[in-house]
Amino acid sequence: MNPVASLRDTISSSLRAKRGSPCMDCHRPSAFAMTAVLRTIGIGLLAVLVAAAAQAAEVKLRILETTDLHMNLLSYDYYQDQPTDQYGLARTLSLIKSARAEAPNSLLFDNGDLLQGNPLGDWVARVKPLQEGQVHPAYKVMNAMAYDAANVGNHDFNYGLEFLHRALAGANFPYISANVYIDDKDKDSAQARHAFTPYLLLEREFRDAQGQNHALKIGVIGLVPPQIMQWDKTNLEGRVVAHDMVEVAKKYVPEMRAKGAQLVIAIAHSGFEKGEVGLFAENVVSRLAQIPGVDAILFGHAHSEFPGKGFANYPRVDIERGTINGVAAVMPGRWGDHLGVVDLKLENSSGSWKVTDSRASIRPVFDRVNRKSLADADPSVEQAISDEHAQTLAYLRDKIAFSSAPIYSFFAQVSDDSSVQIVSNAQIAYVKRAIQGTDYEKYPVLSAASPFKAGGRQGSTNYTDIPAGPLAIKHVADLYVYPNTLKALLLSGAEVKEWIEMSAGQFNRIDPQGPAQQALVNSGFPSFNFDTLDGVTYEIDVTQPARYAVNGTLAAPESHRVKNLRYQGQPISMDARFIVATNNYRAYGGGNFPGLAAAKVILDAPEENRQVLIEYLRMMDVLGPGKQVNPSADRNWHIQNVPGVRMVFFSASAAQKHLARHPDIQWLKDNGDGSALYQLKP
Ligand code: MN
Ligand code: MG
Repeated sequence: MNPVASLRDTISSSLRAKRGSPCMDCHRPSAFAMTAVLRTIGIGLLAVLVAAAAQAAEVKLRILETTDLHMNLLSYDYYQDQPTDQYGLARTLSLIKSARAEAPNSLLFDNGDLLQGNPLGDWVARVKPLQEGQVHPAYKVMNAMAYDAANVGNHDFNYGLEFLHRALAGANFPYISANVYIDDKDKDSAQARHAFTPYLLLEREFRDAQGQNHALKIGVIGLVPPQIMQWDKTNLEGRVVAHDMVEVAKKYVPEMRAKGAQLVIAIAHSGFEKGEVGLFAENVVSRLAQIPGVDAILFGHAHSEFPGKGFANYPRVDIERGTINGVAAVMPGRWGDHLGVVDLKLENSSGSWKVTDSRASIRPVFDRVNRKSLADADPSVEQAISDEHAQTLAYLRDKIAFSSAPIYSFFAQVSDDSSVQIVSNAQIAYVKRAIQGTDYEKYPVLSAASPFKAGGRQGSTNYTDIPAGPLAIKHVADLYVYPNTLKALLLSGAEVKEWIEMSAGQFNRIDPQGPAQQALVNSGFPSFNFDTLDGVTYEIDVTQPARYAVNGTLAAPESHRVKNLRYQGQPISMDARFIVATNNYRAYGGGNFPGLAAAKVILDAPEENRQVLIEYLRMMDVLGPGKQVNPSADRNWHIQNVPGVRMVFFSASAAQKHLARHPDIQWLKDNGDGSALYQLKP
């Protein structure tokens, strides 16, 4: 930079500012003030002051984040087969356009979990697989949006590395991931080679309030939970290894600074946990915020909203400003239901650029309270992928069977339920066929399955609700929303019992001497970890403390909630052997269930659980009585009554229409927001 030209520009722009509309937050000395200085102090000292002023500038930078889009490019609910105004990148795009129009300088990043998560994603990966050289529909949309960079999320590995690289090749913006390395098997971490570009030093010109441009180098680092090695073991083992996110960030943030980064943004596909965050933790944002040199954190993975009331009591959080440990941070929900906005004020008066103020916020596409849209769908998205969308719909509407009863998940957290039962029925049938003629044939086959759509933080529309009648693939996709693959484990009776004990941690402890009304379900327990086991019968005593904490640690070693665990009417022996069908997530340790590990897997099927379900329904349709599928639950488990206590829980108010089928459940009151309070009847 030429110091003389710069000095001239500074003074003349100050004069402009004075003559024109007042510069409300101009921090630099005005020419008027300089004249006063000139009168009172010597020329030599003035020269020093002016030289400092010549360097001083203030730049406002807006950073935008999308995360966990899960292929919700359009605002379309493929499971209900109807448009929605509650999410979709087409709507976020409208917010991006207005956020850009308000700010002279902006950057846009995506934080991953982009390629998987809805039938459109499956269609591109599995039904009509993306070919080499084709542009994935995600990038047909995003390439036109001028993203600056994007991070890889854990679900982006779900379809395997070949698919991931083939898809990423179609992006016209760079991808980063710093903690995934190529598995070179030599254990020499000094030689470790990255599987992706670890970080970027983006060179951008930003304009200050006086219209002057400043070249800045922005370091951007990407991180993904190392748990990908469990969750996508089949896809990743022997190919890549994942390191601890915080350790890797601690290594590279100083390196980016040393290479000239004047601002560092951490894009972490990772959530924000309140408590202690150890090595190889999944949700590390609290620790990233403590790494010196990190100026802003764009996070996600947990599908929650930061800044937001839910985080108000977290340590070192400022909900108003949107900071964690003073660092600007944002997590814009999921599926494009929010845009993340971080506004930074940067100043270089000290000789180097520093963030002097920040404000982070999330902008919703939908007003949940007043039930109205806040962002129109940008028509360019539908134009870009109309063909892929139409073919996905045709695939989804393909009828495969006929169901004699409705299938819904409204009560799946508190009683045996058809949406979980039908998955287990299909898994048991598959495993029994697969082990025919093998040494394993002699063992009883059980199945574990959980409700994936059970309200909770995803809201009261997040339930399966399929009417009796024709079943199409869209219904199966709704019953089984993850592209998991089927696994079966060989376990002891004791291990089967501990599995159910871990699941039973979903329930709050009910005090028989306590209040007349007590909440039954712990909302902090993910419903996808509430496995129920079919093939055995049992009861759950919720007056006992949970044997396991939500994170899988043994919390109450003396406590047993599982009662009367029986196989074919007989109490099971702790050293009997069982084969249990489940999915790759659980079999490889997802959810930290006690005793479940890769070493116990005896059937490592490549088939997706939902493909297993599709084949099962097709078969039932051919073989079943009257060619109908009966999805009724077999009521193999229930919660023991607690005399004198009303055990209450939330479900959708829409669940009321099914109450006639549930003599054990009673409606108590509507909450006016789509949810209602119910109780288990004594
Ligand atoms: Mn996600
Ligand atoms: Mg059952």
